[in-house]
Amino acid sequence: MTENIPGFNTRAVHAGQEFEPRTGAVVPPLHFSSTYAQDGIGNLRAGYEYGRGGNPTRDALQEQLAALENGTHAYSFSSGLAAEDSLIRALAEPGDHIVLGNDAYGGTYRLISKVLGGWGIGNTPVDMSDHAALKAAVAANKTKLVWVETPSNPMMRISDIAAIAEIAHAAGALLVVDNTFASPYLQQPLDLGADVVVHSTTKYIGGHSDVVGGAIVVKDPVLAEAIGFIQFAVGAVSGPMDAFLTTRGLKTLGVRMRTHSENAMAVAQWLAQRPEVEAVHYPGLESHPGHELAKAQMRDFGGMVSVQFAGGEDAARIVAEATRVFTLAESLGGIESLMNYPSEMTHASVKGTELAVPVNLLRLSVGIEDVQDLIADLDQAFAKL
Ligand SMILES: *Cc1c(COP(=O)(O)O)cnc(C)c1O
Repeated sequence: MTENIPGFNTRAVHAGQEFEPRTGAVVPPLHFSSTYAQDGIGNLRAGYEYGRGGNPTRDALQEQLAALENGTHAYSFSSGLAAEDSLIRALAEPGDHIVLGNDAYGGTYRLISKVLGGWGIGNTPVDMSDHAALKAAVAANKTKLVWVETPSNPMMRISDIAAIAEIAHAAGALLVVDNTFASPYLQQPLDLGADVVVHSTTKYIGGHSDVVGGAIVVKDPVLAEAIGFIQFAVGAVSGPMDAFLTTRGLKTLGVRMRTHSENAMAVAQWLAQRPEVEAVHYPGLESHPGHELAKAQMRDFGGMVSVQFAGGEDAARIVAEATRVFTLAESLGGIESLMNYPSEMTHASVKGTELAVPVNLLRLSVGIEDVQDLIADLDQAFAKL
C-alpha cells in the first residue's frame, strides 16, 4: 500500500500546525516561556523542560521544515551561519577536511577557512562541475564533508546533486547541500542523494526580510542525533518570535516561489537582449550552461539573476545606485526586489581569494512586484549608462 503524502503546499500550510486544543485557535500560539512547570521532579507535561532544549513554536517550525525537505528531522538556528557552524562541529572533528564549491557563499567560506580552520578542519575549494577535480580533492585528504551550493551565489552555477552525492559516498564522505537559493519548493536535495540540507531561512523560507535564521534538515537518525545534541549543547537556537515569523513565511513559500521564478525569467530575458549587458546568469535561460541540469533537478529556476556589464565596474555601480523599485541592499529572497553589488557587499569577505566575484557583476533578487514595474525600473537605470 502506498502512503498518501500530501502535496507540497498542503504540507507547507499544515505540517506542525495543529490547532491549539484548549481554545481551538487555528494558528498555534507563540510560546515565549523559557521554562516549563513539572508535575513532579522530572515529570514533564509534554516533554518540555527548558527553552534551549525545546520550545513548541520552534518545534512547529522544525516539523514544517522536515516535511517540506522530505526529511525526518529539522533543526532551527539563530542564523544560517549558526546552523552551518553547528552542523560542521556535529559531523567533523579536527583533522577532517571539507571540500566545497569554489563559488560558495562568502560567509560559508569565511566560517570554514577563518574560524574552523583554526580548530584543525581543513578545506579545499573546487569547481563542482569538474567531477575529476572533485574526486581528486576528496581523495587527497580525510574528507568528511562535501559542500555544495546550487544554484550558487552569486554566479548561479548549477551542480549535479545526484552525481556529487555518489562521488562523496564512494569516498565515505557526506554531502551537504546549501539549498538557500532554490528553497525546498524548487529542489529537494535529500531525494537526490544528499545527506544534509542547510538553509539560511533569512532568505526565501522566511521570505519577508524580517527575520534572521538558519536550519538543518536530515533523514538519517544517527546524523539527527548528533546535530540535535550540538543544537542543545551549543545553544544557537532560534528564538520563539523568529521561529513564528519563519513558520508564517514558510506557509506561502510555494506561491511566492512561483512568482519569483516567473518575474526573474522575464527580467533575465529582458537583460539578455540589452547591449549594455555582457552576460546574464540565470539557469532558466537556454544559453545557461546548467540549464538542462537545472530543468532536471529543479521544479523551476528561482528568483535570483546575476548580470555582468560590458561597461565594467562603473556601469555596475551606476545601475546599482539608480534603481528605485529594486532596493540596494544585502540579502535576498524577500518579497521585495533587491539589488546587490557582491564584490563590495555580500562577498567582500572573499575579495582577493579564489572565490572573488567579478567587479562588473550585480546580483538581483527579483521580488514579487508586478514585473512590468521591475523592468521599467531597470530601463530607467540603464538610461543613466
Ligand atoms: C545568507 C546565506 C547564508 C548565511 O545565512 P545567514 O542567515 O546570513 O547567517 C548561507 N548560505 C547562503 C547561500 C546564503 O545566501
